[in-house]
Amino acid sequence: MLIQVFVILFLIVGVMAILRRSANSPGGPGQAMNFGKSRARFQMEAKTGVLFDDVAGIEEAKEELQEVVTFLKKPEKFTAVGARIPKGVLLIGPPGTGKTMLAKAIAGEAGVPFFSISGSEFVEMFVGVGASRVRDLFRKAKENAPCIIFIDEIDAVGRQRGVGIGGGNDEREQTLNQLLTEMDGFEGNSGIIVIAATNRPDVLDQALLRPGRFDRQVTVDLPTFKGRLQILEVHARSKKIDESVSLEAIARRTPGFSGAELANLLNESAILTARRRKEAVTMEEVEDAIDRLTIGLRLTPLLDSKKKRMTAYHEIGHALLSELLPNCDKLNKVTIIPRSGGIEGFSQTMPNEEMIDSGLYTRAWLLDRITMALGGRAADAEVFGEDEVDTGATSDIKQVTNLARQMVTVFGMSSLGPLALENMESDPYTGRGGDYSEEIAIKIDSQIRDIAKQCYADAQRIIRENRSLVDQLADALLEQETLEGEEFRAIIAAFRKETEQVATAAVAVS
Ligand code: ADP
Repeated sequence: MLIQVFVILFLIVGVMAILRRSANSPGGPGQAMNFGKSRARFQMEAKTGVLFDDVAGIEEAKEELQEVVTFLKKPEKFTAVGARIPKGVLLIGPPGTGKTMLAKAIAGEAGVPFFSISGSEFVEMFVGVGASRVRDLFRKAKENAPCIIFIDEIDAVGRQRGVGIGGGNDEREQTLNQLLTEMDGFEGNSGIIVIAATNRPDVLDQALLRPGRFDRQVTVDLPTFKGRLQILEVHARSKKIDESVSLEAIARRTPGFSGAELANLLNESAILTARRRKEAVTMEEVEDAIDRLTIGLRLTPLLDSKKKRMTAYHEIGHALLSELLPNCDKLNKVTIIPRSGGIEGFSQTMPNEEMIDSGLYTRAWLLDRITMALGGRAADAEVFGEDEVDTGATSDIKQVTNLARQMVTVFGMSSLGPLALENMESDPYTGRGGDYSEEIAIKIDSQIRDIAKQCYADAQRIIRENRSLVDQLADALLEQETLEGEEFRAIIAAFRKETEQVATAAVAVS
């Protein structure tokens, strides 16, 4: 009997020790027992310190949001006439365009606290955790009303329910339902405004978008030239920048850059300046930073070798075509100084602001672009022979295939007619996508092949017709390693003048 009592006692002591250990663990008392209860993952800032003036270049979005500030500051103005104050604002736009900043600026301007959480924080392994986080967040917000709740990446929880791979996800649905319930639960005029951000509005659940929830939608696009200039001005304030630097020139060189990328660009330039022990940022650092961000880190030049010669001809192939094709963007520079990521050289055109900002590209431009991308391979084959072409053109060929496919299946620019044969937004998670018969698939393939072949033939012809110019340009590039657009065009002009003189001399002799 004594032995039995002893064993039972031993077990009880053991269990108690385990319980106590978990109670003292760093996660807080009783961690093992209540994983379902959320540890608050949201952040609260009593004062964000961000004002509308700090957000530059997105005037339309700012104007629309100005009203939200008034809702928070003077709700009586609206309630007096019986207006219901909107509860939710959805900010739509690509990453880095300043959506978080805008939300903070609203809180800053209105002088209210700012609660923020990312959609992905709601999504947890255990069913119910996300929903309890939503409850916590709204409870805290109600205690601090008026305030702003900011939910970043709302598409992580707000995707359409019950579609796509696996046919839905219990945890996400519960979280979303909870979010909808909370938004319905607080009266319109309680002073809480939920601001959510996403770059995929198309995947959001319709229930989120109906009136009474996120009924305001504000698009925050990539900045245009003017916007980029203003953003650069804002970020240049805190940097020491040489007088010779023209922010306009930088803005012109950076279409497609988001606000965050522009901020990063100026920061990289400043880092380069410090590394070079200069007093202030000059255009040289900015140019280097742009190349570094868009292409890669600069490496030491190659020693003279066949590989270097091949790279030079390859790049001249691209560069010359960009100059000779009528609808191509003009050359900015061509170089054979290698970059990180296996880039042996590159030829870069001046970005076509108008097209990038508007997002509209003409058929002629696309075809010339494809021809130019094939110029490298055409030069390789023309100069060194078909057997010597190498794998260096892999990324060109990929680009060509993508563009040609889009021309056929998305832009309706082939003889198949104006048909959208592929949904650009096809996405495995929503289960949407393009579908067509096998017969059409064969036609699409043959159209793509026709475009690529035709463009390659054009590229080869132009290289062949200008062979001695190609040689001269390649020699210049091998010697200088980088040719700016102006230098490149000067060599072409000088070459043309010379051949003209030779021709007139020949006529005179005959
Ligand atoms: P998003 O939430 O759209 O991904 P953020 O608001 O987090 O982008 O922006 C990231 C950073 O980029 C900001 O901290 C800011 O430095 C810079 N930035 C982005 N857009 C702008 C803008 N319009 N004006 C000034 N700075 C900007």
